[in-house]
Amino acid sequence: MEHVQQFGSENAEFSEAGVFARYESNVQSYARSTPAVFAKAVGCEIWDERGGRYLDFLSGAGSLNYGHNNPVLKNALIEYVNLDGITHSLDLHTEAKAQFLTELADTILLPRGLDYVAQFTGPTGTNAVEAALKLARKVTGRTNVVHFTNSFHGVSLGSLSMTGNQVLRKAAGVPLQGAVCMPFDGYYGAGVDTVAILEQMLSDKSSGIDLPAAVIVETVQGEGGLNPAGWEWLSDLEALCKRQEILLIIDDIQAGCGRTGTFFSFEPAGIVPDIVTLSKSLSGYGLPLALVLMKRELDHWEPGEHNGTFRGNNHAFVTAAATLRHYWRSNEFSREVMEKADYLEGRLRGIVARFPKHLERVKGRGFMRGISFADASYAAAVRDRCYALGLICERCGADDEVVKCMAPLTVTPEELAEGLDILERATGDVLSARGSSGPKIRIAAS
Ligand SMILES: *Cc1c(COP(=O)(O)O)cnc(C)c1O
Repeated sequence: MEHVQQFGSENAEFSEAGVFARYESNVQSYARSTPAVFAKAVGCEIWDERGGRYLDFLSGAGSLNYGHNNPVLKNALIEYVNLDGITHSLDLHTEAKAQFLTELADTILLPRGLDYVAQFTGPTGTNAVEAALKLARKVTGRTNVVHFTNSFHGVSLGSLSMTGNQVLRKAAGVPLQGAVCMPFDGYYGAGVDTVAILEQMLSDKSSGIDLPAAVIVETVQGEGGLNPAGWEWLSDLEALCKRQEILLIIDDIQAGCGRTGTFFSFEPAGIVPDIVTLSKSLSGYGLPLALVLMKRELDHWEPGEHNGTFRGNNHAFVTAAATLRHYWRSNEFSREVMEKADYLEGRLRGIVARFPKHLERVKGRGFMRGISFADASYAAAVRDRCYALGLICERCGADDEVVKCMAPLTVTPEELAEGLDILERATGDVLSARGSSGPKIRIAAS
């Protein structure tokens, strides 16, 4: 492989120098289980500084839906930079922004009958969530926002208050306020309608819950364990929000931008959220960009009432517009993703069927999938074994019990098969090495 030569072992100085252990904070997380020093990446492939090749089924936690250094996006960006296009502009009008907004409207919003206006926030997902929460509170004059068990919405204080994870919440250092946590779809098992529970709580004058400004929900809980909300559950939730005049915020930061097969993850539910947040794969190139879409009539912002120095990352506008132009003007890409998703699901089902004692089930939706282990320590061991065999993937769920497959949507069928072969082999290696003692049984939530 020609890439390997460029990154031969004589260049592998950084791993040896221990620079990260010495100079980077203890807060590092992914780098602990995946300690290689990476040098180069193309599509689904990534190479470390020694020239070691891996397949990337982590994809920046869903930020690289179109792969690393996608040539369509890269060329658009290089051309823009070469012409001295604007890089930084606060929220000034630029050609790059105009082109992105036009492409967003023409390719995504208008064909779907969505009359949204766009707010560019600071560049990361949590910035979009903060703006969405603030707007919902401003519009309704209420404080509480309902979120759900196993939710993840970011780690700045407002978003963190909407996030379920205890470890993350504890790090806040101050009380997390304005949030009411309710059971997500399936939390009490398949037979319990948790929208009905929410409705009862909101209708009961003595439930102790003040009428919320909004409900914030992921259609597939990305960090919380790849739990998909049912289509009917989502449309019931929308109907409940309408009846009670509560705003519905869909956090599509991870599940959106095609990850579940459609551009917005909520499209098959037939719902129209009041507010949508997008970030991770919006730029498509791994450049930071975050967006709040709000129904036009909800745009109650006063000029400058919410701001940020890095609103409007023009390089990200250029690559984001290129993703929409290249991948979303027709249904072809969406169809391809669905086909690959069927293959992915089938392969994961095959792995679960091979090891029924240790593996619970295939989780997720579309191209956002994983397998849950009865014993989370096995999930960790399988993840480590995958890494040793050249596949980068991560875990999610309350106990990190789910091994997550987040290959780029543009992965080739051969690479997808290769990665899944590694996952299957790693699972077999770990489970046979641990013998027949079997893990402790965990009661599945759904
Ligand atoms: C990643 C994520 C966020 C936070 O995005 P950051 O860029 O990490 O701030 C919010 N919501 C969801 C659903 C996410 O997956």
